[in-house]
Amino acid sequence: MRIENLCVKRQIGDVAGATTRGHKMAVKGGYIYQTFQGGYTLTPTGWRVVHKIENIIRDEMDKIDGQEILMPVVCSADLWRETGRYDAMAVLAKFKGSSGADYVICPTHEEVVTDYARSVTSSYRQLPFMLYQIQTKFRDELRVRAGLIRTREFIMKDGYSFHETQEDLERYYKLCFDAYYRIFRRCGLKNIIDVMSSTGDMGGAVAHEFQLVNEMGEDTLYVCDCGFRANKELEDRDSTLCPKCGKQMKKIRGIEVGNIFQLGKKYTDSMHMTYTAADGTEKTPIMGCYGIGVGRTMAAILEESSDDNGPIWNMETAPFAVEVIGLVDKENKTFAVSEKIYNDLKNAGIEVLLDNRDIRAGEKFADADLIAAPIRLIVSEKNLARDVTEVKYRVNDFDTSKLPTEFKIETCVSDTEKMIKTLSHK
Ligand SMILES: [Zn+2]
Repeated sequence: MRIENLCVKRQIGDVAGATTRGHKMAVKGGYIYQTFQGGYTLTPTGWRVVHKIENIIRDEMDKIDGQEILMPVVCSADLWRETGRYDAMAVLAKFKGSSGADYVICPTHEEVVTDYARSVTSSYRQLPFMLYQIQTKFRDELRVRAGLIRTREFIMKDGYSFHETQEDLERYYKLCFDAYYRIFRRCGLKNIIDVMSSTGDMGGAVAHEFQLVNEMGEDTLYVCDCGFRANKELEDRDSTLCPKCGKQMKKIRGIEVGNIFQLGKKYTDSMHMTYTAADGTEKTPIMGCYGIGVGRTMAAILEESSDDNGPIWNMETAPFAVEVIGLVDKENKTFAVSEKIYNDLKNAGIEVLLDNRDIRAGEKFADADLIAAPIRLIVSEKNLARDVTEVKYRVNDFDTSKLPTEFKIETCVSDTEKMIKTLSHK
Protein backbone atom coordinates (compact mmCIF):
# COMPACT_ATOMS: atom_id res chain seq x y z
CA MET A 1 0.00 0.00 0.00
CA ARG A 2 1.23 3.48 -0.88
CA ILE A 3 0.54 5.86 1.96
CA GLU A 4 -1.20 8.46 -0.20
CA ASN A 5 -3.83 5.87 -1.13
CA LEU A 6 -4.38 4.69 2.45
CA CYS A 7 -7.95 5.77 3.16
CA VAL A 8 -7.28 6.86 6.74
CA LYS A 9 -7.31 10.40 8.13
CA ARG A 10 -4.47 10.94 10.58
CA GLN A 11 -3.96 14.07 12.65
CA ILE A 12 -0.71 15.35 14.05
CA GLY A 13 -1.21 17.43 17.21
CA ASP A 14 -4.11 17.43 19.64
CA VAL A 15 -7.59 16.16 18.80
CA ALA A 16 -10.85 17.45 20.20
CA GLY A 17 -13.46 15.42 22.02
CA ALA A 18 -11.31 12.47 23.09
CA THR A 19 -11.51 11.84 26.83
CA THR A 20 -8.70 9.33 27.42
CA ARG A 21 -5.20 8.69 26.11
CA GLY A 22 -6.30 5.62 24.17
CA HIS A 23 -9.31 7.37 22.67
CA LYS A 24 -7.00 10.21 21.59
CA MET A 25 -4.64 7.72 19.93
CA ALA A 26 -7.51 5.98 18.15
CA VAL A 27 -8.73 9.30 16.71
CA LYS A 28 -5.29 10.85 15.98
CA GLY A 29 -4.17 7.67 14.23
CA GLY A 30 -7.47 7.41 12.35
CA TYR A 31 -8.18 3.86 13.55
CA ILE A 32 -11.85 4.54 14.24
CA TYR A 33 -14.47 6.88 12.81
CA GLN A 34 -17.60 7.68 14.79
CA THR A 35 -20.55 6.89 12.50
CA PHE A 36 -23.11 7.52 15.26
CA GLN A 37 -23.04 7.86 19.06
CA GLY A 38 -21.77 4.46 20.16
CA GLY A 39 -21.20 3.08 16.67
CA TYR A 40 -17.84 3.22 14.92
CA THR A 41 -16.47 2.43 11.49
CA LEU A 42 -13.18 0.57 11.75
CA THR A 43 -10.92 2.22 9.19
CA PRO A 44 -8.47 0.25 7.00
CA THR A 45 -5.78 0.40 9.73
CA GLY A 46 -8.25 -0.10 12.60
CA TRP A 47 -9.72 -3.14 10.89
CA ARG A 48 -6.26 -4.59 10.29
CA VAL A 49 -5.52 -4.38 14.03
CA VAL A 50 -8.90 -5.81 15.02
CA HIS A 51 -8.56 -8.59 12.47
CA LYS A 52 -5.17 -9.51 13.94
CA ILE A 53 -6.60 -9.59 17.46
CA GLU A 54 -9.36 -11.85 16.11
CA ASN A 55 -6.80 -14.21 14.62
CA ILE A 56 -4.92 -14.46 17.92
CA ILE A 57 -8.24 -15.32 19.58
CA ARG A 58 -9.07 -17.89 16.87
CA ASP A 59 -5.69 -19.52 17.25
CA GLU A 60 -6.02 -19.87 21.03
CA MET A 61 -9.67 -20.99 20.92
CA ASP A 62 -8.86 -23.62 18.29
CA LYS A 63 -6.03 -24.88 20.53
CA ILE A 64 -8.59 -25.75 23.21
CA ASP A 65 -10.81 -27.45 20.59
CA GLY A 66 -13.18 -24.54 20.10
CA GLN A 67 -15.28 -24.84 16.92
CA GLU A 68 -15.95 -21.57 15.14
CA ILE A 69 -19.47 -20.89 13.88
CA LEU A 70 -21.40 -17.78 12.84
CA MET A 71 -24.87 -17.12 14.19
CA PRO A 72 -27.28 -14.44 12.96
CA VAL A 73 -27.03 -10.90 14.38
CA VAL A 74 -30.81 -10.51 14.28
CA CYS A 75 -32.93 -13.20 15.89
CA SER A 76 -36.59 -14.00 16.34
CA ALA A 77 -37.96 -12.95 19.74
CA ASP A 78 -39.33 -16.49 20.20
CA LEU A 79 -35.95 -17.91 21.25
CA TRP A 80 -35.54 -15.11 23.79
CA ARG A 81 -39.03 -15.77 25.15
CA GLU A 82 -38.06 -19.39 25.86
CA THR A 83 -35.61 -18.24 28.55
CA GLY A 84 -37.62 -15.25 29.73
CA ARG A 85 -34.90 -12.78 28.78
CA TYR A 86 -37.05 -11.07 26.11
CA ASP A 87 -38.74 -9.07 28.88
CA ALA A 88 -35.97 -9.18 31.49
CA MET A 89 -32.96 -7.73 29.68
CA ALA A 90 -32.81 -3.93 29.70
CA VAL A 91 -30.26 -3.45 26.91
CA LEU A 92 -32.08 -5.71 24.44
CA ALA A 93 -32.88 -3.83 21.20
CA LYS A 94 -36.22 -4.99 19.76
CA PHE A 95 -38.07 -4.27 16.55
CA LYS A 96 -41.05 -5.49 14.55
CA GLY A 97 -40.69 -6.93 11.08
CA SER A 98 -43.11 -5.95 8.29
CA SER A 99 -45.14 -9.12 8.99
CA GLY A 100 -45.57 -8.05 12.60
CA ALA A 101 -43.08 -10.59 13.96
CA ASP A 102 -40.90 -9.54 16.91
CA TYR A 103 -37.12 -9.51 16.47
CA VAL A 104 -34.13 -8.70 18.64
CA ILE A 105 -30.65 -7.53 17.75
CA CYS A 106 -28.59 -9.95 19.82
CA PRO A 107 -26.40 -8.50 22.59
CA THR A 108 -25.21 -12.05 23.41
CA HIS A 109 -26.03 -15.50 22.00
CA GLU A 110 -26.84 -18.02 24.77
CA GLU A 111 -30.34 -18.64 23.37
CA VAL A 112 -29.19 -18.88 19.76
CA VAL A 113 -26.30 -21.23 20.49
CA THR A 114 -28.36 -23.45 22.78
CA ASP A 115 -30.97 -23.75 20.02
CA TYR A 116 -28.26 -24.94 17.63
CA ALA A 117 -26.60 -27.21 20.21
CA ARG A 118 -29.88 -28.96 21.08
CA SER A 119 -30.49 -29.62 17.38
CA VAL A 120 -27.22 -31.56 17.03
CA THR A 121 -26.79 -33.24 20.43
CA SER A 122 -28.31 -36.61 21.24
CA SER A 123 -25.70 -38.68 23.08
CA TYR A 124 -23.25 -38.21 25.97
CA ARG A 125 -20.53 -39.35 23.55
CA GLN A 126 -20.73 -35.94 21.81
CA LEU A 127 -19.91 -34.05 25.00
CA PRO A 128 -18.04 -31.90 25.79
CA PHE A 129 -17.85 -29.38 22.96
CA MET A 130 -17.31 -25.65 22.68
CA LEU A 131 -18.74 -23.41 19.96
CA TYR A 132 -17.57 -19.85 19.44
CA GLN A 133 -18.04 -16.98 17.06
CA ILE A 134 -16.55 -13.56 16.43
CA GLN A 135 -19.35 -11.25 15.57
CA THR A 136 -21.10 -7.91 15.86
CA LYS A 137 -23.39 -7.36 18.85
CA PHE A 138 -25.69 -4.55 19.85
CA ARG A 139 -26.52 -3.36 23.37
CA ASP A 140 -28.83 -0.41 23.71
CA GLU A 141 -26.67 1.22 26.42
CA LEU A 142 -27.69 4.52 27.96
CA ARG A 143 -24.11 5.78 28.10
CA VAL A 144 -21.20 5.39 25.71
CA ARG A 145 -17.60 6.21 26.57
CA ALA A 146 -14.05 6.78 25.31
CA GLY A 147 -14.21 5.51 21.74
CA LEU A 148 -14.28 1.72 21.65
CA ILE A 149 -14.22 1.34 25.46
CA ARG A 150 -18.01 1.43 25.76
CA THR A 151 -20.08 1.41 22.59
CA ARG A 152 -23.56 0.29 21.57
CA GLU A 153 -22.44 -1.78 18.61
CA PHE A 154 -19.30 -3.84 19.10
CA ILE A 155 -17.42 -6.95 17.96
CA MET A 156 -17.21 -9.76 20.45
CA LYS A 157 -15.82 -13.25 20.62
CA ASP A 158 -18.39 -15.34 22.43
CA GLY A 159 -17.87 -19.02 23.20
CA TYR A 160 -20.20 -21.56 24.78
CA SER A 161 -19.28 -24.99 26.12
CA PHE A 162 -21.54 -27.95 26.97
CA HIS A 163 -20.67 -30.65 29.50
CA GLU A 164 -21.99 -33.75 31.24
CA THR A 165 -20.74 -32.84 34.70
CA GLN A 166 -19.81 -29.83 36.81
CA GLU A 167 -16.29 -31.31 37.17
CA ASP A 168 -15.87 -31.38 33.41
CA LEU A 169 -17.11 -27.78 33.11
CA GLU A 170 -14.57 -26.74 35.76
CA ARG A 171 -11.78 -28.55 33.90
CA TYR A 172 -12.65 -26.76 30.64
CA TYR A 173 -13.21 -23.42 32.40
CA LYS A 174 -9.61 -23.59 33.60
CA LEU A 175 -8.36 -24.31 30.06
CA CYS A 176 -10.21 -21.27 28.80
CA PHE A 177 -8.97 -19.18 31.72
CA ASP A 178 -5.36 -19.99 30.75
CA ALA A 179 -6.07 -19.39 27.03
CA TYR A 180 -7.35 -15.90 27.90
CA TYR A 181 -4.08 -14.98 29.59
CA ARG A 182 -2.21 -16.18 26.48
CA ILE A 183 -4.48 -14.13 24.20
CA PHE A 184 -4.02 -10.89 26.11
CA ARG A 185 -0.27 -11.44 26.44
CA ARG A 186 0.01 -12.03 22.68
CA CYS A 187 -1.92 -8.79 22.10
CA GLY A 188 0.82 -7.02 24.09
CA LEU A 189 -1.31 -6.20 27.16
CA LYS A 190 0.86 -6.30 30.27
CA ASN A 191 -1.27 -5.45 33.30
CA ILE A 192 -4.04 -8.02 32.98
CA ILE A 193 -5.51 -9.54 36.12
CA ASP A 194 -8.43 -11.87 36.69
CA VAL A 195 -11.05 -10.94 39.28
CA MET A 196 -14.08 -12.77 40.59
CA SER A 197 -17.27 -11.15 39.39
CA SER A 198 -21.00 -11.32 39.68
CA THR A 199 -22.84 -13.23 36.96
CA GLY A 200 -25.37 -10.42 36.27
CA ASP A 201 -27.67 -10.97 33.29
CA MET A 202 -25.93 -14.23 32.36
CA GLY A 203 -26.92 -16.34 35.35
CA GLY A 204 -24.80 -19.07 36.91
CA ALA A 205 -22.61 -19.31 39.98
CA VAL A 206 -18.92 -18.72 39.22
CA ALA A 207 -17.57 -15.99 36.96
CA HIS A 208 -14.29 -14.20 36.34
CA GLU A 209 -13.47 -10.99 34.55
CA PHE A 210 -10.18 -10.23 32.84
CA GLN A 211 -9.34 -6.65 33.64
CA LEU A 212 -6.60 -4.38 32.32
CA VAL A 213 -5.42 -2.44 35.36
CA ASN A 214 -5.58 1.16 34.17
CA GLU A 215 -6.54 4.38 35.91
CA MET A 216 -9.04 5.39 33.22
CA GLY A 217 -10.96 2.12 33.58
CA GLU A 218 -14.62 2.42 34.52
CA ASP A 219 -14.65 -0.63 36.81
CA THR A 220 -13.62 -0.45 40.45
CA LEU A 221 -11.67 -3.48 41.62
CA TYR A 222 -10.69 -4.59 45.11
CA VAL A 223 -7.43 -6.44 45.45
CA CYS A 224 -5.76 -7.89 48.53
CA ASP A 225 -2.15 -8.91 49.20
CA CYS A 226 -3.39 -12.41 50.00
CA GLY A 227 -4.42 -12.84 46.35
CA PHE A 228 -8.15 -12.16 46.70
CA ARG A 229 -9.47 -10.01 43.86
CA ALA A 230 -13.04 -9.00 43.09
CA ASN A 231 -14.95 -6.29 41.29
CA LYS A 232 -17.11 -3.72 43.02
CA GLU A 233 -20.42 -5.30 41.98
CA LEU A 234 -19.49 -8.47 43.82
CA GLU A 235 -18.09 -6.56 46.78
CA ASP A 236 -21.15 -4.37 47.04
CA ARG A 237 -21.01 -3.96 50.76
CA ASP A 238 -19.84 -1.39 53.27
CA SER A 239 -16.63 -3.07 54.30
CA THR A 240 -13.45 -2.89 52.25
CA LEU A 241 -11.91 -5.62 54.39
CA CYS A 242 -10.87 -8.80 52.59
CA PRO A 243 -13.47 -11.57 53.01
CA LYS A 244 -10.63 -14.10 52.88
CA CYS A 245 -8.01 -12.75 55.29
CA GLY A 246 -9.67 -9.73 56.93
CA LYS A 247 -7.05 -7.17 55.90
CA GLN A 248 -7.75 -3.84 54.22
CA MET A 249 -8.11 -4.27 50.43
CA LYS A 250 -6.69 -1.87 47.83
CA LYS A 251 -9.02 -0.11 45.41
CA ILE A 252 -7.85 0.05 41.79
CA ARG A 253 -9.44 0.74 38.40
CA GLY A 254 -9.69 -1.57 35.42
CA ILE A 255 -10.96 -1.98 31.86
CA GLU A 256 -12.84 -5.25 31.43
CA VAL A 257 -11.62 -6.99 28.27
CA GLY A 258 -12.95 -10.50 28.85
CA ASN A 259 -15.24 -12.54 31.04
CA ILE A 260 -15.96 -16.20 31.63
CA PHE A 261 -18.97 -17.77 33.35
CA GLN A 262 -19.94 -21.15 34.68
CA LEU A 263 -23.56 -20.92 33.61
CA GLY A 264 -24.91 -24.20 34.91
CA LYS A 265 -28.24 -25.30 33.41
CA LYS A 266 -30.04 -21.97 33.17
CA TYR A 267 -30.30 -22.06 29.36
CA THR A 268 -30.23 -25.80 28.72
CA ASP A 269 -33.04 -26.31 31.26
CA SER A 270 -35.34 -23.56 30.04
CA MET A 271 -34.72 -24.50 26.39
CA HIS A 272 -35.14 -28.23 27.05
CA MET A 273 -31.78 -29.34 25.68
CA THR A 274 -31.16 -32.97 26.64
CA TYR A 275 -28.90 -35.90 25.75
CA THR A 276 -28.97 -39.61 26.50
CA ALA A 277 -26.50 -40.44 29.26
CA ALA A 278 -24.41 -43.63 29.44
CA ASP A 279 -27.01 -45.21 31.74
CA GLY A 280 -29.77 -44.54 29.20
CA THR A 281 -31.44 -41.68 31.09
CA GLU A 282 -32.20 -38.26 29.60
CA LYS A 283 -29.98 -35.54 31.07
CA THR A 284 -29.48 -31.80 30.70
CA PRO A 285 -25.99 -30.49 29.79
CA ILE A 286 -24.14 -27.95 31.93
CA MET A 287 -22.91 -24.82 30.17
CA GLY A 288 -20.05 -22.36 30.35
CA CYS A 289 -19.66 -19.13 28.38
CA TYR A 290 -16.59 -17.12 27.45
CA GLY A 291 -16.50 -13.56 26.08
CA ILE A 292 -13.85 -11.16 24.80
CA GLY A 293 -14.52 -7.61 23.65
CA VAL A 294 -12.47 -7.50 20.45
CA GLY A 295 -12.70 -3.77 19.69
CA ARG A 296 -12.30 -3.03 23.37
CA THR A 297 -9.09 -5.07 23.38
CA MET A 298 -7.73 -2.73 20.71
CA ALA A 299 -8.87 0.23 22.81
CA ALA A 300 -7.16 -1.30 25.86
CA ILE A 301 -3.88 -1.70 23.96
CA LEU A 302 -4.11 1.97 22.97
CA GLU A 303 -4.69 2.98 26.62
CA GLU A 304 -1.73 0.98 27.84
CA SER A 305 0.81 1.16 25.06
CA SER A 306 1.51 4.51 23.44
CA ASP A 307 3.77 7.53 23.75
CA ASP A 308 2.95 11.16 22.95
CA ASN A 309 3.53 10.51 19.24
CA GLY A 310 1.28 7.55 18.67
CA PRO A 311 0.40 3.96 19.49
CA ILE A 312 3.02 1.27 20.08
CA TRP A 313 1.78 -2.06 18.69
CA ASN A 314 3.58 -5.36 18.79
CA MET A 315 4.38 -7.42 15.70
CA GLU A 316 1.23 -9.52 16.13
CA THR A 317 -1.18 -6.55 16.24
CA ALA A 318 0.42 -3.77 14.14
CA PRO A 319 -1.54 -2.78 11.01
CA PHE A 320 1.64 -3.05 8.89
CA ALA A 321 4.86 -4.90 9.73
CA VAL A 322 7.08 -2.51 7.78
CA GLU A 323 7.00 1.06 6.51
CA VAL A 324 9.51 2.10 3.85
CA ILE A 325 10.22 5.82 3.88
CA GLY A 326 12.03 7.45 0.98
CA LEU A 327 13.41 10.88 1.87
CA VAL A 328 13.44 13.56 -0.81
CA ASP A 329 16.89 14.01 -2.43
CA LYS A 330 18.27 16.25 -5.17
CA GLU A 331 18.82 13.57 -7.80
CA ASN A 332 15.66 11.55 -7.17
CA LYS A 333 17.64 8.38 -6.43
CA THR A 334 16.08 7.58 -3.06
CA PHE A 335 12.55 7.18 -4.37
CA ALA A 336 13.61 4.60 -6.96
CA VAL A 337 15.44 2.55 -4.30
CA SER A 338 12.65 2.76 -1.72
CA GLU A 339 10.13 1.81 -4.41
CA LYS A 340 12.19 -1.28 -5.28
CA ILE A 341 12.54 -2.33 -1.62
CA TYR A 342 8.81 -1.83 -1.17
CA ASN A 343 7.97 -3.98 -4.21
CA ASP A 344 10.40 -6.72 -3.16
CA LEU A 345 8.93 -6.80 0.37
CA LYS A 346 5.42 -6.86 -1.03
CA ASN A 347 6.30 -9.75 -3.34
CA ALA A 348 7.75 -11.59 -0.35
CA GLY A 349 4.28 -11.43 1.24
CA ILE A 350 5.13 -8.80 3.85
CA GLU A 351 2.55 -6.22 4.94
CA VAL A 352 4.35 -3.08 3.90
CA LEU A 353 3.53 0.59 3.49
CA LEU A 354 5.50 3.00 1.25
CA ASP A 355 5.90 6.72 1.93
CA ASN A 356 7.45 8.38 -1.11
CA ARG A 357 5.48 11.60 -0.77
CA ASP A 358 7.14 14.87 -1.65
CA ILE A 359 7.03 16.25 1.91
CA ARG A 360 9.51 16.99 4.70
CA ALA A 361 11.20 14.12 6.58
CA GLY A 362 9.82 15.35 9.93
CA GLU A 363 6.26 15.13 8.64
CA LYS A 364 6.85 11.62 7.35
CA PHE A 365 8.29 10.45 10.69
CA ALA A 366 5.45 12.00 12.70
CA ASP A 367 2.94 10.31 10.42
CA ALA A 368 4.82 7.00 10.65
CA ASP A 369 4.49 7.16 14.46
CA LEU A 370 0.69 7.21 14.09
CA ILE A 371 0.64 4.09 11.92
CA ALA A 372 3.38 2.59 14.05
CA ALA A 373 4.78 -0.20 11.88
CA PRO A 374 7.25 -2.00 14.18
CA ILE A 375 10.01 -1.81 11.51
CA ARG A 376 10.75 1.37 9.60
CA LEU A 377 13.25 1.39 6.73
CA ILE A 378 14.52 4.86 5.86
CA VAL A 379 16.14 5.47 2.50
CA SER A 380 18.09 8.73 2.44
CA GLU A 381 20.77 10.23 0.20
CA LYS A 382 23.33 9.93 3.01
CA ASN A 383 22.64 6.23 3.70
CA LEU A 384 22.45 5.41 0.03
CA ALA A 385 26.05 6.57 -0.39
CA ARG A 386 26.99 3.66 1.94
CA ASP A 387 24.50 1.23 0.33
CA VAL A 388 22.41 0.88 3.49
CA THR A 389 18.96 1.73 4.78
CA GLU A 390 18.50 3.05 8.27
CA VAL A 391 16.29 0.83 10.46
CA LYS A 392 14.08 2.19 13.23
CA TYR A 393 11.86 0.22 15.55
CA ARG A 394 8.62 1.01 17.28
CA VAL A 395 7.43 -2.09 19.05
CA ASN A 396 5.65 -2.91 22.29
CA ASP A 397 7.31 -4.96 24.99
CA PHE A 398 10.60 -5.68 23.21
CA ASP A 399 14.11 -4.41 23.96
CA THR A 400 15.26 -3.08 20.58
CA SER A 401 18.44 -1.41 21.89
CA LYS A 402 20.72 -4.21 20.65
CA LEU A 403 19.09 -4.70 17.25
CA PRO A 404 20.86 -3.54 14.05
CA THR A 405 20.24 0.07 13.07
CA GLU A 406 20.93 -0.48 9.37
CA PHE A 407 20.49 -3.14 6.69
CA LYS A 408 22.56 -3.47 3.51
CA ILE A 409 20.41 -2.55 0.50
CA GLU A 410 21.12 -5.83 -1.28
CA THR A 411 20.12 -8.02 1.71
CA CYS A 412 17.40 -5.68 2.91
CA VAL A 413 14.48 -8.00 2.13
CA SER A 414 15.88 -11.12 3.80
CA ASP A 415 17.14 -9.03 6.77
CA THR A 416 13.65 -7.59 7.17
CA GLU A 417 12.05 -11.03 6.99
CA LYS A 418 14.41 -12.25 9.72
CA MET A 419 13.72 -9.20 11.86
CA ILE A 420 9.95 -9.74 11.61
CA LYS A 421 10.53 -13.25 12.99
CA THR A 422 12.76 -11.93 15.76
CA LEU A 423 10.19 -9.35 16.82
CA SER A 424 7.37 -11.91 16.65
CA HIS A 425 8.89 -14.21 19.29
CA LYS A 426 9.89 -13.25 22.77
ZN1 LIG B 1 -6.95 -10.91 51.77
